[in-house]
Amino acid sequence: MDAATFRLLGHQLVDWIADYREQVETRSVMSMAKPGEVRARFPPTPPATGGHLAEALRTLERDLMPGITHWNHPSFFAYFPSNTSYASILADIVASGLGVQGMSWQTSPAATELEEVVMDWLRQMVGLSTAWTGVIHDTASTATLCALLCARERASSYAQNAKGLQSGEAPLVIYASDQAHSSVEKAALLAGLGRAHLRLLDSDDRHALRVDRLKSAIEADRGAGLRPCAVVATIGTTGTTAMDPLEDIAAVAKQHRLWLHVDAAMAGTAMVLPECRQMWEGVEAADSLVFNPHKWMGVGFDFSAYFVRDPEHLIRVMSTNPSYLRTAQDGEVKNFRDWHIQLGRRFRALKLWFFLMDVGVEGLQARIRRDLQNARWLADRVKDAKDWVLMAPVSLQTVCIRHVPDELQGDEEALTCHNLEIARRINESGKAYLTPSMLKGRQMLRVSIGAECTERRHVEAVWSELLSSVTHQH
Ligand SMILES: *Cc1c(COP(=O)(O)O)cnc(C)c1O
Repeated sequence: MDAATFRLLGHQLVDWIADYREQVETRSVMSMAKPGEVRARFPPTPPATGGHLAEALRTLERDLMPGITHWNHPSFFAYFPSNTSYASILADIVASGLGVQGMSWQTSPAATELEEVVMDWLRQMVGLSTAWTGVIHDTASTATLCALLCARERASSYAQNAKGLQSGEAPLVIYASDQAHSSVEKAALLAGLGRAHLRLLDSDDRHALRVDRLKSAIEADRGAGLRPCAVVATIGTTGTTAMDPLEDIAAVAKQHRLWLHVDAAMAGTAMVLPECRQMWEGVEAADSLVFNPHKWMGVGFDFSAYFVRDPEHLIRVMSTNPSYLRTAQDGEVKNFRDWHIQLGRRFRALKLWFFLMDVGVEGLQARIRRDLQNARWLADRVKDAKDWVLMAPVSLQTVCIRHVPDELQGDEEALTCHNLEIARRINESGKAYLTPSMLKGRQMLRVSIGAECTERRHVEAVWSELLSSVTHQH
């Protein structure tokens, strides 16, 4: 491709994206594609000759769009929001246009230094002290894996530099609540600690970790000759946005010298509001913290913010430093390749920079407050509605509900079918998209508000859909 063609197709594509965004509301939120339907539209063998890209752009709508679920649709209420602001789309173009590999400072000083700048902005935005240093990871899952690897190495006096987990010492144990994200379990397993040494402790009726259970589990493990190693506290669980009691957990972690990792993947964004920061009171006592600006905030996927108090420790665990990666500036600069698992890294800092230049902290705060108010509005409707039940406190923007008609009271199996049917009707109508999910054996519907363009009217509309879906059933 020559530059002239790139210019032409590039302008067309930007128009295409803008048209898509402007008209997204007219589309079905959830893709109605059947398994294999998209695949069947593509030839089974690669094109032997080139020159067909313009044609591919013309078939985007016909061949690809039927298989797209619209995460930036204003009636997207599933999972957690994953906002990709216009500004971060533009930043992605710059990052790809430059095609930079920011693995070491020298490989593009701007990539490292802009990352230092924006991660420090982010630190200030969520009210963390200057004791924290941030690095951009791809996802919370890998950040949590890094945290548990660091915890393992601290607790084992750097066993990886000796016999690793083969040294025959007492097993290390990890603690979290039964509401912790599956990435915590995955990290514990990948860190080689073994499922037998992962304690997913009972949560209370607000779905937060029970500190009494944490204490007794630690004591029991110590009694059995095991080595308690780390506790993961979740601020904003994926199921219900429950908040683990961080201050109390931090006190236990300190007493038993456990690594404290805070998973605030979703809720971290709320901390740009000073009025929300009591939710993670105690965070300063943690060793590591992750949150995802690629969720609610508006920085397009992927962008996970990992903050640590002791970068030297992180580097000691993550660095290998072969001779071909060493440079003259190594003593004075950050080489972010030593701050996570992979070597190569995209220039992701651009996305946060562009995003903040576009909306500003105040603009972001206003949007987050709007979403919190929309969630409270919906929660109030649910509270007042006959047969509808709130399944968990609404601490952020996710409202967990279910419909419990009189005749199904107490019949969990029937309630599961009934609520799954409500979700199916709404999702297949294409008018809105929400996630059915189990909470301690009970079926519920999660309405997770916070797509960038979701206004009150969209929340009103999904509530009407919910109400009419049950009138139709009976
Ligand atoms: C979404 C989420 C994760 C996983 O995030 P990824 O960036 O997709 O790995 C982890 N923890 C919590 C609480 C989450 O909500």
